[in-house]
Amino acid sequence: MEEEKSLNFIEQIVEKDLSEGKNDGRIQTRFPPEPNGYLHIGHVKAICMDFGIAERYNGICNLRFDDTNPSKEDTEYVDTIMRDIAWLGFKWGNIYYASDYFDKLYELAIRFIKEGKAYVDEQTAEEIAAQKGTPTEPGVASPYRDRPVEENLRLFEAMQAGEIEEGKMVLRAKIDMANPNMHFRDPIIYRIITSHPHHRTGRKWNVYPMYDFAHGQSDYFEGVTHSICTLEFVVHRPLYDYFIDQFVGEVPSNFEGWKPGSDYRPHQYEFNRLNITYTVMSKRKMLQLVQEGLVSGWDDPRMPTVCGLRRRGYTASAIREFMDKIGYTKVEGMIDVGLLEHTIRENLKETAPRVCAIFEPVKLVITNYDKETEILVGENIDGHPELGTREMPFARELYIERGDFLEEADNKFYRLSPNGREVRLKNAYIIQATGCEKDVEGNITTVYATYDPDSKSGTEGGNRKTKATINWVECNSCIDVETRLYDRLFKVENPAAEEGDFRDLLNPDSLRVVTCKAEASLKTVRKPVTFKDGIAEVKHFQLLKQGYFVVDEDTTADKLVLNRTASLKDNWQK
Ligand code: ATP
Ligand code: MG
Repeated sequence: MEEEKSLNFIEQIVEKDLSEGKNDGRIQTRFPPEPNGYLHIGHVKAICMDFGIAERYNGICNLRFDDTNPSKEDTEYVDTIMRDIAWLGFKWGNIYYASDYFDKLYELAIRFIKEGKAYVDEQTAEEIAAQKGTPTEPGVASPYRDRPVEENLRLFEAMQAGEIEEGKMVLRAKIDMANPNMHFRDPIIYRIITSHPHHRTGRKWNVYPMYDFAHGQSDYFEGVTHSICTLEFVVHRPLYDYFIDQFVGEVPSNFEGWKPGSDYRPHQYEFNRLNITYTVMSKRKMLQLVQEGLVSGWDDPRMPTVCGLRRRGYTASAIREFMDKIGYTKVEGMIDVGLLEHTIRENLKETAPRVCAIFEPVKLVITNYDKETEILVGENIDGHPELGTREMPFARELYIERGDFLEEADNKFYRLSPNGREVRLKNAYIIQATGCEKDVEGNITTVYATYDPDSKSGTEGGNRKTKATINWVECNSCIDVETRLYDRLFKVENPAAEEGDFRDLLNPDSLRVVTCKAEASLKTVRKPVTFKDGIAEVKHFQLLKQGYFVVDEDTTADKLVLNRTASLKDNWQK
């Protein structure tokens, strides 16, 4: 029986609104990314909420690009955002852009000016900031606050006509310089940006609306009922409501089902952001890591981006499951990255085929094995023959892990040592070490052993127990595999909370590249990775005793590259 999950606080609000017939019984949400960077796992929390609510309550969730700042935005980001959302398994109703509403918002600004609710300020950003006051002290009115309407109109039109230099003038809403909510102290609602063309509207606009003047309006124009965002917007909510109050009841431009007299109005709700230990999630910082080559790109498997996690081997279902586990509240906090790792590990445990790979090889010669190579069989997942098997060539010369042999061992060491103890080679025979050979420096170069021909796994003699089982690969058939062993990107739990340059906190050991010797069955995956809709096909393996790995897209016909998705050991404390 499926466990009944209790509703999160937003689901409770939605159910109440539905039961009261609000907004004509409609549920409409939006996910509003700014196309100025790649989506990260924090965004996924918002995505799961916005799309999840729509799915659960037969509503609709639109994707709206919040593209009001052309200086940082680009279609490259629009494309990757769409690809990542689709990969996560969500479907949007429509795709909209805040820039769809530039005409409409400009008209509203003109109307505000005509109604005496907005004015053009010629002060610098610094001067304006200095006049804001503090939460307990009122701000100082701008000397331009009481400009006549005609002058405001003329200047705002000049701003749009490209006659005013960037930074020289802004349009401010004339609200209340003494309001305890600082966002009401004549917020800037339009600014000039002439230095960059807009990725969709080109050079049509020289003035662009600020977030607060665009977001609520866009919600209204589209018919959004529940505008869900993160807690830092709580303080913006009164302003969101104030602007909507100015035109609520009018025909929304992008909402076909709207009827005059409808009680429709959008409301904003806020939940806690996702913060994860040992990483940064600010787009600015991530961009810096990418641009300065501190990571290999947005999709570096150490990045908390969706494409980075994907390349690391995270599945969409594991990421969504993680979001279910952490839930939504109104309290900010930090989530242990161990929980994320735990989720993917649990996912892969059941499904990733096992293969042998030797990371610190030493040669093992089985002196009494005089047959040609024979083909042994290994189950992809032990105890589950129905999940497939693989062929494991076996011969006289093998590689084993250096650490699995000790020339002189105490009786707590159960693996190979020339002490008469029997050890099983996994899926193969029982052997006994007889000695070893060393180079001039005393390093062991070859281990010698004998095997028992009647002890083959899968035969009657295969049931004989040993205290230890060790991994091996056959020398002639094994292949070299490049493994990329990832660790946390930062040395400290919360890099954002530390003083100084966050780049000094990078973990120097976050990537180790080790070439290992892997069993021959991996030859079939040593070929260029195929892509579907720009997304690499995923193949996971568990390298025995080493962790869960995924085939990286750098793989070629000559070289197999595996990224470690997660180690085997789970340090996550429940
Ligand atoms: P920036 O880093 O540039 O301030 P942002 O991270 O807020 O941007 P947006 O593209 O504006 O990115 O975000 C789109 C949506 O994702 C917003 O609704 C925002 O609240 C949500 N979001 C962003 N970061 C997180 C996070 N860490 N946890 C939950 N939701 C988030
Ligand atoms: Mg933002």
